[in-house]
Order: sequence, then C-alpha cells, then structure tokens
Amino acid sequence: MYYVNPNVRDTMRIFPPQGRLGYMRLDMNENPEGLPEEVVSRIRDSITPEFLATYPEPGVFLDKYAAFLGVNPNQLCATNGSDNAIRYIMQTFAEPGKKVLTVTPTFEMYKVNCWLLGLVHTTIGYGEDGTVDVDALVEAIDDDTDIVALVNPNNPMGDTYTEDSARRVLEKANEHNCIVVIDEAYHYFTSKTLIKLIDEYENLILLRTFSKCFSLAGVRLGVAIGNSDTIRYIHNLRVTFEVNTFALKCGEIVLDTPGLIESLAEKQIEGREYIVNRLSESGYTVMPSETNFVSFKPKTSCEAVEKALYQKKILVKTFGSGPLKGWIRINTGSVPVMEKFAAALLEVDC
Ligand code: PMP
Repeated sequence: MYYVNPNVRDTMRIFPPQGRLGYMRLDMNENPEGLPEEVVSRIRDSITPEFLATYPEPGVFLDKYAAFLGVNPNQLCATNGSDNAIRYIMQTFAEPGKKVLTVTPTFEMYKVNCWLLGLVHTTIGYGEDGTVDVDALVEAIDDDTDIVALVNPNNPMGDTYTEDSARRVLEKANEHNCIVVIDEAYHYFTSKTLIKLIDEYENLILLRTFSKCFSLAGVRLGVAIGNSDTIRYIHNLRVTFEVNTFALKCGEIVLDTPGLIESLAEKQIEGREYIVNRLSESGYTVMPSETNFVSFKPKTSCEAVEKALYQKKILVKTFGSGPLKGWIRINTGSVPVMEKFAAALLEVDC
C-alpha cells in the first residue's frame, strides 16, 4: 500500500455545492450581483493572446495594493484566495502537534487546516450573551500555542474585536512567541479594521480578500500583510505562480477604478440596513452584524425555509450545530435584492 499522510487521509472535507449560478446566492457571503458591467468589460478588454501566454507577474498588483493600504510592497504576499494564505501561514508558523487557538464558531478552514497539518485546534466559545470572553482567549495562549487566529469581523457571528482586545492578544502572544492572524475578509463593511497595528507587532499577519466587497470570489485573490520577514517566509513557501494572471489583472482594475470600492461597500451596507429593519418589523429576531451578512431566526423551521427558498432559486445558509443552530444566515445584496428576498421569505415562512 502506498503511503498516505494520515492527517490528510483522516480529514473529512465537505466541499461547497455546485450549480449555484442563476440562483440568488445568499449562502456564501459573495456579492450576489457582482461588479458593475462597465468594470467587467474593461477586464474583458485586457485579455489578449500575449496576456494569456505570459506567466503571471504579481508586481504591478502588489505595488497598487500596497499604495492603497499605505504599506510597503515587501509587506504583502498575494495568494490564491485568502484560503491559501491561511494554509501557508499554518504550514510556516505552526509546528505539528502544537496549538492553533481560535474562537468558535469561526471560519471553518482554520479547523480543517489544523486537521490536515496535524495541529491541535483549541477554541474559546461564545458566552450566553453572544460575546467572546477576551480574558479567556488571552488566558488560553501558552507556550504550546503557535498561532492565534481572530476573524475581524467574525464569520459567522458578525462581531468585531476592539483595538484594546486585539492588543491584549498580540502582547500575550508575543510573550509566548506566537503568531497572531487577524483575518479581515469582512472589514469593508465596518470601520473597525486593525491594520494600523501591522507596524507595531512583528507577530501580526493580517489577511484580506478580494472575494467579498471587491466581488471577485471566482478569480481567487487574497493577500497576507505583515512585516517583511514574516511575509518573506510565506513567499518562500508559496508556489512560484501562486496567483494567476487573470486574477491579478482583475485586482488591478478594481483598484484603479475611482470610487468603486466605496460604492460596492455602500450598496451592501444599505442592503443590510434595509433587511435588518424589514425583518425586525416583520417580527423576526435578527442578530446585529458589522459585515455583509445577517442572521435571523425563522418563524417555522430552518430546514423548511431553506428548502422552500431553494424552490424559489434562493440559497441561504443554515447551521447543524453551535450557537447559530436554529438561525438562518444570508449575505446582503443591494436593496432591490433584499426586497426580493424579504418578499420570498415572508411568503414561505408562515
Ligand atoms: N476568511 C474568512 C473569514 C472567510 O469567511 C472566507 C470565505 N468565506 C475566507 C477567509 C476565504 O476567502 P477567500 O479564499 O475567498 O479569499
């Protein structure tokens, strides 16, 4: 029998469903409407035979994104989605058998990568009041902890960390030679980014993605941001042509379009405010969120509502366990998309 890495062999993966195009996609925190057609048309126009025949060169994208963030390009590594940055960080900065600390629930790839890489996933749960006990989080960092990963705002809970909480985690982590990942996939929908801490803490790596506000989930573009040393290690590990040429071009064009990012975020925030009010007025319990997603408790059952919405070509997210069992999470879209969703929900959930 050939050798199979036992961690890989024993990991149970559940991959996302197929055939979602043509549905109202409110289940995976994408932008259900995508970029304005005029931006897509500029992306299309940039594709030539020479462009497709040339190996990817991330330099132009990295310079533009560094200028956008106000950091040095050597503080950035572009990856095939932030999903891959998570994998690389865990491969680089965690020793098999050591701990990776997160809250629970959070983005599940932290757990899956622990399984794949032979790391011990330790978690701090949310309290009854729906908040994380930061004292417990700080307390849990010890010499066996190699990485603490905080998602800010967290998915699926939608809450953020204060600067003070993040500093407490970073400082305790520093005492134990531990890397802190702050995953800001959803930061565009809140003002609470922690990026200003990047030059203060050399154990901090921040993650950003072009999949959410930037509406490019299909092309796979993420970025790890840190100090030049941590980023150099991630570059050492990455495959030579990590991000494809098309994804890099999409990123450049989005960054080059004046006002685009602001208008994309604004549309989602307007949609969020609309749906939170509409659901509350209709008697639903709604979980406040600083992201592009909102959770609510259906009046009938999650399973029945999910199924009935599916019949209407609307996809939503439900949870089999954890504090969101019994809740439905939807990502936001523009107000017209949210109006359509609310009308369909009110028809099936009664
Ligand atoms: N981090 C968080 C918190 C996420 O929710 C997601 C995707 N839902 C990712 C990272 C991965 O995003 P991507 O690989 O598309 O950049």
